[in-house]
Amino acid sequence: MQDIKMQRRRFLTTLACGAAAIPLAQLLAGQARAADLPHVTADDATAKAVGYVPDASKLDAKKEPTFKAGSACGGCALYQGGKEAFGGCALFPGKAVAAKGWCRSFAAKA
Ligand code: SF4
Repeated sequence: MQDIKMQRRRFLTTLACGAAAIPLAQLLAGQARAADLPHVTADDATAKAVGYVPDASKLDAKKEPTFKAGSACGGCALYQGGKEAFGGCALFPGKAVAAKGWCRSFAAKA
């Protein structure tokens, strides 16, 4: 009986560790993928169309009246990155935008 309890405890511990490891591995893999993506540049056709800039702090607010100080890709609902400097964006599949970037499609995260 004691053996069965030990085996059950070991099994449940292994199961819990495995369940915790899967999201961590997915998180790390996602970050690695975002870091590997080519960065969107100002020369990109979509970037030109939406007025993307890699550094919102250098944006001329007079030329972009919809820009609100403090808004940046990192705070946009379409941003798919985490706390790293670059992350994916729904507008630029397969590429990464700068977390401190901005474009006219900016939509603040809820
Ligand atoms: Fe940045 Fe949002 Fe524009 Fe994508 S849609 S480039 S995340 S501001």
